[in-house]
Amino acid sequence: MKILDGKYLSNVIKEEIKESVDVRLSSGMKKPHLAAILVGDDGASLTYIGSKVKSCKQVGFESTLIRLENTISENNLLTEIKKLNENKNIDGYIVQLPLPKHINEEKILLMVDPHKDVDGFHPTNFGRMVLELPSFIPATPFGIMEILKRYDIQTSGKNCLVIGRSNIVGRPISVLMSQKSSYGNATVTVAHSRTENIKELSLKADIIISALGIPEFIKENMVKQGVVVIDVGITRVVDKTNSKGYVIKGDVDFKNVSKKASYITPVPGGVGPMTIAMLLKNTLLACEIKD
Ligand code: NAP
Repeated sequence: MKILDGKYLSNVIKEEIKESVDVRLSSGMKKPHLAAILVGDDGASLTYIGSKVKSCKQVGFESTLIRLENTISENNLLTEIKKLNENKNIDGYIVQLPLPKHINEEKILLMVDPHKDVDGFHPTNFGRMVLELPSFIPATPFGIMEILKRYDIQTSGKNCLVIGRSNIVGRPISVLMSQKSSYGNATVTVAHSRTENIKELSLKADIIISALGIPEFIKENMVKQGVVVIDVGITRVVDKTNSKGYVIKGDVDFKNVSKKASYITPVPGGVGPMTIAMLLKNTLLACEIKD
């Protein structure tokens, strides 16, 4: 069994990005600039945004964090988005999800300029990705594809089970895995909450990509020997013995499933850090396209 070390790989990618930034700066070009909008003070969102800002510093990007009150109206948030669209110094930005219930997420995401949509959530980018045209690929699926590529995991003709069909992970990764590309060409099955025979499907899978958010959902008896497991799930589970009061769990019972897997991502330290690295990569790309 080999660990797919997303933490290590993300540092390699960040180092590559930093080298590109250094080259830009030495040629008199501007630093890439990533902005983030955070509405409210949700603990998990604050942690994610904090890591993104820290990573920007690591690679030499400029970053701007716009913090807004939980009570902000939809119209005022749309105004903030328009300002970011018009700000020539900002190359890309993200709107940290989830947004408060009184705000229509779809309306907000539609307002993001597709050229600055480094999360790849705008229908223009999503559609271009499906059509295999150049686009910003959502950071988490992009990170998974990069793991497969850098560890040279053969996917062509393999049975790949994707669990989850969200627009940010399950759906896009199912599209990418089935595309005609070096680390695609898999035969993909998408499972979700209405799927009745997950164990039957998972036992046939050569590759399992799990993005459902139920801690340790995938057990040893659900996978075959030699399976490749990509665990996207991140759930905070209460643990009073831990100083934070919680521990992070993935969708996979890592301790036991890893005994049968040929490759497996840990949680934490797998897909999570890759997501941030690929967000930075998209921002660099957005900056380079503008030049
Ligand atoms: P989501 O929008 O809640 O989607 C979850 C998906 O899982 C849905 O499609 C749902 O089916 C399906 N599902 C729920 N219960 C199921 C069950 N018992 N059997 C089969 N499928 C089931 O979540 P998400 O945003 O995609 O995130 C999924 C997980 O990944 C979460 O733990 C999240 O924190 C994590 N995540 C991690 C990263 C990272 O960087 N590592 C990034 C994003 C998300 P229905 O469609 O039928 O409801």
